[in-house]
Amino acid sequence: LSSVVIVGAGQAGFQVAASLRQGGFSGHISLINNEPGLPYQRPPLSKAYLLGKIATSNLAFRPEAFFDQQQIELLQDDAITIDRQNRHVVLASGKSLQYDHLVLATGAHNRPLSVPGDDLQGVFGIKTLADADALAPRVKDARNVVVIGSGFIGLEFAAVAAALGASVHVVDLGDRPMARAVSSDMAAVFRQTHESWGVQFHFHQGVTRLIGENGQITAIETTDGKVLPAELLVYGIGVIPNITIANEAGLAIENGIKVDANLLTSDPHISAIGDVACFPCIQNEGEHTRIESVPNAMEQARTLASRLLGNAKPFDAVPWFWTDQGNLKLQIAGLSTGYDSTVRLGSEATQQFSVLCFRKGQLVAVESCNRPGDHLAGKKILSRPPELTSAEASAPGFDLKIWEL
Ligand code: FAD
Repeated sequence: LSSVVIVGAGQAGFQVAASLRQGGFSGHISLINNEPGLPYQRPPLSKAYLLGKIATSNLAFRPEAFFDQQQIELLQDDAITIDRQNRHVVLASGKSLQYDHLVLATGAHNRPLSVPGDDLQGVFGIKTLADADALAPRVKDARNVVVIGSGFIGLEFAAVAAALGASVHVVDLGDRPMARAVSSDMAAVFRQTHESWGVQFHFHQGVTRLIGENGQITAIETTDGKVLPAELLVYGIGVIPNITIANEAGLAIENGIKVDANLLTSDPHISAIGDVACFPCIQNEGEHTRIESVPNAMEQARTLASRLLGNAKPFDAVPWFWTDQGNLKLQIAGLSTGYDSTVRLGSEATQQFSVLCFRKGQLVAVESCNRPGDHLAGKKILSRPPELTSAEASAPGFDLKIWEL
């Protein structure tokens, strides 16, 4: 292998370039970045960065010198076509890059709100540094904030806006926050805590239109006809994988770019990793699954780099996630999808507790709020048999950290 081209310089694309060099790859690496500036991390954009607790320069994965030292050619460009027959990627600038192996790490974009008035000023999604830079000064001054969607990003932003003194309303079609990601036990505690910060939830509600004056949002109307004042609206209603170039090149698509257990697409010279890749997930009973998280992007990048260096092994990392909301740090190991019972550890009163989720009596996820020890133990337990049963976890005095040993 003498040339690897990577499309997308986000978490997964950057990591595969870095891991290839770390593993001794001496061929050419091109990393195509269609965003301005150096490749950067996104998680702070909906949290610490908006609170001014982290400088822009600290968002970059590495300083500019790293790319020169490591001989990673960072191209500020957009990949527009893949010529699979001749193994070339054509860029918007007209440049054409030859590859022995192509990595698609194109991520995902925000699902648009698509309601009348969504083009008003004061309406934001948060995906890029540019989004966060435009939003940060506005949230400092906003008094009335509406958040559409109570997933991780919506709630992280709600916590920031409440901390900065705004009155915050959260509107969601579901019946509880973070419904797709956490158990109802954990969701209930997060709901209560947000309410204690003054956040008001409107569940089973959509948004029908955004109301404005002189091009600026002033209010929103919900599906039950409620009008909520809003000088600032942030939506976080899911993402859509960036599959255009893969699709046009005829690669297999299934809720993202479809890959096998080795993260290989339907073309043996092309792999896909990160938010865009839909892979057979052991923790989801082998179903093709797309996971949107930093750890997933990084682990997939490492697994791929290792394969390109001659050590192929199927991707089998235990999925894990985190979210920071006010003083609550939630870490999740595993996937709670389809859980049918839970066991709680610790104390909700001190906001240090964990929820163990079981499916048919077997542990499938550990959700830890301000209990990092449980999170680490959970990851280990989930990565190897024998699995923990709900009967064992319910025993008086049970301690996850001791069981793990
Ligand atoms: P991305 O990092 O999105 O990178 C993809 C890149 O490819 C983008 O720069 C895109 O513009 C570029 N691209 C797309 N098409 C092309 C093309 N044709 N040519 C060139 N470039 C292209 N995860 C967590 O685990 N914890 C968190 O707390 C957390 N917080 C988050 C907060 C925010 C605000 C956001 C937006 C995400 C957060 N995430 C978090 C998710 C995490 O950032 C993503 O899962 C991760 O970045 C995925 O990495 P990726 O490389 O697959 O995609």
